[in-house]
Amino acid sequence: MTTPLSFLAADAAEQLVLMNPGPVVLDERVRAALAGPDLCHREPEFADLLARIRHKTTLVAGGGDAHTSVLLTGSGTSAVEAAIGSAVPPDAGLLVVDNGHYGERFEHIATAYGIRTHRLELGWATPVDPARVEQALAADPGLTHVGMVQHETSTGMLNDVAAVARIAHELGREVIVDAVSSVGAERISLAGDGVDWLCGSANKCLEGAPGLAFVSAARTAFERLADHPNRTYYLDLHRHYTAQEKSGLPAFTPGIPACYAFEAALDLALAEGQEARHARYAALAERLRAGLEALGLELLLPPGQRAVGLTALRLPAGTGYEELHQAMRAAGFVIYRAQERLAADHWRLSTMGRITAADIDRFLAVLADVPRGADHERLADPAAGRLGRQHA
Ligand SMILES: *Cc1c(COP(=O)(O)O)cnc(C)c1O
Repeated sequence: MTTPLSFLAADAAEQLVLMNPGPVVLDERVRAALAGPDLCHREPEFADLLARIRHKTTLVAGGGDAHTSVLLTGSGTSAVEAAIGSAVPPDAGLLVVDNGHYGERFEHIATAYGIRTHRLELGWATPVDPARVEQALAADPGLTHVGMVQHETSTGMLNDVAAVARIAHELGREVIVDAVSSVGAERISLAGDGVDWLCGSANKCLEGAPGLAFVSAARTAFERLADHPNRTYYLDLHRHYTAQEKSGLPAFTPGIPACYAFEAALDLALAEGQEARHARYAALAERLRAGLEALGLELLLPPGQRAVGLTALRLPAGTGYEELHQAMRAAGFVIYRAQERLAADHWRLSTMGRITAADIDRFLAVLADVPRGADHERLADPAAGRLGRQHA
């Protein structure tokens, strides 16, 4: 029988190993949940599902009884945009902590809403210096909010959210955190780290299907949004909060199959536990990184700065990204391009989702054998009798 998804072609019945930072390879139980019943989102069954998802999302975000979450149908950016557009009051300002592509996105979103910003541009792959955040906030009391990314996916850098939140709170400011590519795998806690607004998505380290995002915060913070202007209709967090909290129903038609899958994924995440998932991701990333370095490849960041979900590295000498993508894709692996200033000479490998140690080992074996350069040397050069070094 031919599949109606003809683009998936013959041997694609076999699942590709997705090493892009979301959407991720799903657990079978999560994928199976996508095929749940057709349902009206204004019936009690959906209200119950929504309440459970919001509660479980708050738990994975490290929230307590004082916290809650609002579920959005949209990609991760919809959550970040909803938080910025709704949480920063009029005549206020946003300090943008920018050490990569997603930090800079705070600036772009705020500017689109006419919100005043101060962009603390640290440079890509440069760790956040909390002292510079403190200086910037002290110098400008009108910067009422700080926007930062936990895992800066453009470089794989893990930023210290708790350190920045501590300083922001000492100075009476609120913190909006893009935890889209970290929540689920990195240690983060609304309650413990002092995160005022946490933005996440279903399809990265929480291992759900694409299509859902969320914002988690204190109930009182959502309530206070009533006094803010409506800069946006569809992404107005107060509108979503009011609908979901007061009437228990979504403001608009949600992606119902993605909700089924998200609940299954949240159940798995809660059963595994944040520490165990962090350890699973860390072990997988270590295995990959050790193998890459054994092949002579140069990782972008030093060990202390790396998040567990993604590794950015230099392209092998003599091999272009397209070539590498094609070769790895033919063997069943989807690798990921680096962005902007890193695109010319770097690439990225995500280890989010249901990737196994065996997948990593097979990936490394295939990679070692990718011909490169005009002379078709291999990364692991058998003639050299050892795993090939990276030739300058
Ligand atoms: C993936 C990602 C986003 C959201 O991207 P979408 O394409 O909207 O899902 C936002 N921030 C970070 C840090 C990300 O990695």
